[in-house]
Amino acid sequence: MTIHSVHDLHEDTISVDPAPCRLCGSPLNHMMIDLGMSPPCESFLLPELVDSAETFYPLRVMVCDQCWLVQLREYVDPREIFTEYAYFSSYSTSWVDHARRYAEMAVARFGLGGESLVVELASNDGYLLQHFAPFNIPVLGVEPAANVAEAAEARGVPTLVEFFGAEMATRMVSEGRAADLIVGNNVLAQVPDLNDFVAGIAILLKPEGVATLEFPHVGRLLAENQFDTIYHEHYSYFSLLTIEKMAARHGLRVIDVEELPTHGGSLRVFLARDGSDRDTSDAVTALRDRELAEGLDRVETYTAFDERARRTKRELLSFLIAAKDEGKTICGYGAPGKGNTLLNYCGIGRDFLDFTVDRNPYKHGRYTPGMHIPIRPVDAIMAARPDYILILPWNLRDEIVAQLSRTADWGPKIVVPIPHVEILETRGDSK
Ligand SMILES: [Zn+2]
Repeated sequence: MTIHSVHDLHEDTISVDPAPCRLCGSPLNHMMIDLGMSPPCESFLLPELVDSAETFYPLRVMVCDQCWLVQLREYVDPREIFTEYAYFSSYSTSWVDHARRYAEMAVARFGLGGESLVVELASNDGYLLQHFAPFNIPVLGVEPAANVAEAAEARGVPTLVEFFGAEMATRMVSEGRAADLIVGNNVLAQVPDLNDFVAGIAILLKPEGVATLEFPHVGRLLAENQFDTIYHEHYSYFSLLTIEKMAARHGLRVIDVEELPTHGGSLRVFLARDGSDRDTSDAVTALRDRELAEGLDRVETYTAFDERARRTKRELLSFLIAAKDEGKTICGYGAPGKGNTLLNYCGIGRDFLDFTVDRNPYKHGRYTPGMHIPIRPVDAIMAARPDYILILPWNLRDEIVAQLSRTADWGPKIVVPIPHVEILETRGDSK
């Protein structure tokens, strides 16, 4: 084989036989980014485990040159990750609001009523389906994590504790549970067998039913350098181009698409059966054209990403090294999953960050996976008065900067790592 680039060379040294694409089965010949080795990003460690061995998996992302699905191999078994889940959607008030507005929109737009059925895949603790109760619309959740499903049942949302796929959909239809509306919010990225999952949606939909799926948009990930949103729990990253190919494989088509600000920039796609009478919105053509203009149908658009991430790593480390050489103190803010990708990829341990803080009490007293940064309550920042605060959930930067400007009277500087390293003042004007 001819060596065209450092990416081709790198792949040669890793594997002779390229893995097949999760969606279309074509061989995966192009690496988008190699983030090195890291542990699963949600495995926050108890103190007694910090002195033990930890399992690291490759975090290497490939792109398919046929369907443009950006994907990770299934290094970590979904049954390990998703059967006992620490994340309860209802903890996030903004997410619950998002769900309520969605329910109101769906009821009006699709004319749902007492005879309809709304099914949510990965329904978590019922944060979304609960909003259909005021309209007396029957709902059914599907959620593999037993502990969060239990919370859903407790708030009156009937929930099946299973992984969704074609087999389960066939069974549901035979029981008279075909759906008028299927909702899948932030689940598609976490499905190892995409085709089985989408086949299930096609089976479960009534002839004029609609499915809506929300997922982070790979176009925003690329444009805004969001390499830290890549982690083992997310197997796939989608453009509209890919979603249209995925839908077509299963007798579905995209009838509408909306761009949402959630998770750094998400898409909400509306799918209907090929034979459905529903019209296709102009938004679909408009976004498809924009993706083509952004080069999302060209290998180079994806493979150039690796160098951008490396540059950010060098910038961030240069800043941190200079700050430590000057004797400055640095703390983190937040302990989100994406923080762990960033810390592990850049090799930022306690030699740089004294600790990080988080609002979630589950994480207090634990350590971040891999880099073992201690996680403390938010007040710890006020006691430590660090010179710099590195914001890990950069999507919340404005909220955090505003909060620190009010409360941090010693005037720490804020470091935002993504899309590029930026230093903000908490006093006076930000630069
Ligand atoms: Zn493919």
